[in-house]
Amino acid sequence: MPDACKHPRVRVVSRDEDAEYVECELCGEVFDASEFRDMAIEEKLPQDEA
Ligand SMILES: [Zn+2]
Repeated sequence: MPDACKHPRVRVVSRDEDAEYVECELCGEVFDASEFRDMAIEEKLPQDEA
């Protein structure tokens, strides 16, 4: 999986009571919308995923 994808285009695929799930239209990854916001913030930091 290309970890260079910053998921610039996402669409909502599922919605929960207090959670929303979005899918990246580029890489197809699905994640929590709140998690996506965190990722957008951490975008400034160097990617260091183990
Ligand atoms: Zn993506």
